[in-house]
Amino acid sequence: MLNKPIYFDHAATTPLDKKVLEKMLPYFTENFGNANSQHVFGRNAVKGVDEARDSIAKIIGAKPGEIYFTSGGTEADNWALRGVAHAFKDKGRKIIISPIEHAAMISTAKALEKEGFIIEYMKVDGEGFVDLDHLKSIVDDDTILVACMMANNEVGTIEPIKEIAKIAHEKGALAFSDAVQAAGVLKIDVKDLGVDLMSMSSHKIYGPKGVGLLYIKTGVRIESIITGGHQERTKRGGTTNVPGVIGFAEAFRIADENLEENAKYVSSLRDRFIKRVLAEVPFVKLNGPVDGAKRLPANADFSFKYIEGESILFSLDLAGIAVSSGSACSSGSLEPSHVLLALGLPDELAHGSIRFSFGKHNTVEEVDYCVEEIKTAVDRLRKMSPLFKAEGEINYV
Ligand SMILES: *Cc1c(COP(=O)(O)O)cnc(C)c1O
Repeated sequence: MLNKPIYFDHAATTPLDKKVLEKMLPYFTENFGNANSQHVFGRNAVKGVDEARDSIAKIIGAKPGEIYFTSGGTEADNWALRGVAHAFKDKGRKIIISPIEHAAMISTAKALEKEGFIIEYMKVDGEGFVDLDHLKSIVDDDTILVACMMANNEVGTIEPIKEIAKIAHEKGALAFSDAVQAAGVLKIDVKDLGVDLMSMSSHKIYGPKGVGLLYIKTGVRIESIITGGHQERTKRGGTTNVPGVIGFAEAFRIADENLEENAKYVSSLRDRFIKRVLAEVPFVKLNGPVDGAKRLPANADFSFKYIEGESILFSLDLAGIAVSSGSACSSGSLEPSHVLLALGLPDELAHGSIRFSFGKHNTVEEVDYCVEEIKTAVDRLRKMSPLFKAEGEINYV
């Protein structure tokens, strides 16, 4: 047992970077002003928020006026989907999304379905990649929005967003991408990608929780979902989370500055981990892309045959290792992962999956310790599994 717990759940959230905290602190105390106030306190807050907006816009190739701060990725996803649906309901009723979207998207799409919108799902292959030919065949003149995440939070698949946006535009539909897992990890240029809307969140990139953004390309029509004061050019009411926004921008700046270096380091941990698990643990399946360059550098997702994901999670937790079964948002429910089902995994394997997501503070020693603990846990759990006794043990070496 190591002397401090190991954190391999960075796709769920990340620790706040100390440099980010330092940058935020004055905005809780001296610069506490409401960014909407017409006095020196307000002006100080606005100055910070403006700088944050400029900095983020520059990194993603947007104009500052195209950045709208929100309470996080979930709100930005909700806004994109609901806001576009409601603004364009007279033009068309169809919305196409990928079947492996985050719960923030899937639940919102289901709610819109109840309002009378038609939701269609793109097909994905066994590694989670969108089938572009299938997408082409379902986008039509009734389609108002095509939405696909830039990178999947569970299996790490990096999607061909540029091609997806092009297909949407050919039929006059808008293109939205949830870039929560991709931002700060992959280089993003909204103009090059051609997306009309894009969401991001701060707490997945060593920034504070409760702040995110929606990029809305100039001229794109969208209805507000949070109405109130004149904040965010009257499109999103509510007093601006000034320290949050400042921290978000600083976290994104640091992530962008160290993008290649971080990706290289984190993917070296991931590759070592994947290689060892595949070689040393029997009856295990790597979910998502086999090609490391096509999956998020931090992500490794495995299904352990004959064992419930939850039981491995609990064993690893006892050994001081924090991971998640499926995605953090669906764990706790005993439903199999909707992502793994969409990838065509049988129920049983979709139940037995564990996501390991590495971060910049993790070490090789932690990775190696984790592999040993997995071997111990898997071996013990399989010995207790009736299913394993029935069929697995025969081939077990
Ligand atoms: C975490 C996550 C979200 C939700 O963002 P919050 O800021 O936690 O609301 C949305 N989409 C993806 C892909 C995520 O990983």
